[in-house]
Amino acid sequence: MKCPRDGTELARVTVATLELDKCHKCDGIWFDRGELERLSDLELSGVEQLLEKRYGDLEITEGTTTGFMRCPRCQDARLQGCHYALTRPVRIDRCERCFGFWLDKGELEAIIGEKRELHNETERGVLSSFVRSVAKSLRR
Ligand SMILES: [Zn+2]
Ligand SMILES: [Zn+2]
Repeated sequence: MKCPRDGTELARVTVATLELDKCHKCDGIWFDRGELERLSDLELSGVEQLLEKRYGDLEITEGTTTGFMRCPRCQDARLQGCHYALTRPVRIDRCERCFGFWLDKGELEAIIGEKRELHNETERGVLSSFVRSVAKSLRR
């Protein structure tokens, strides 16, 4: 798979409990839909439960299809810009066909950055809760 932004070959990395595809040039990360669903079936840790209680209901604003980024998996499908609000609104690019999504480097930091002061497990927990919430919203 290739980076939708700059065409660099994506490398397999482990973030929290997820196996993801990351671009080492721009530090963007691709999440497959199957990866989201696997995560949403896992037991919640205490930290994640707390975060999900506080931030579990995502507000989603459907964005526009910019048309310039294409899904690294589907190739010919477009990535659609959506806003997810967890600790703060984050813009993600979601594939209109396979429902995988792309996070740019700054977007991932926007999700996990704010809560760093809480606990050393929190960074992982915020990411997991965020991804879990996105997975839930896709089932609706
Ligand atoms: Zn890239
Ligand atoms: Zn796709």
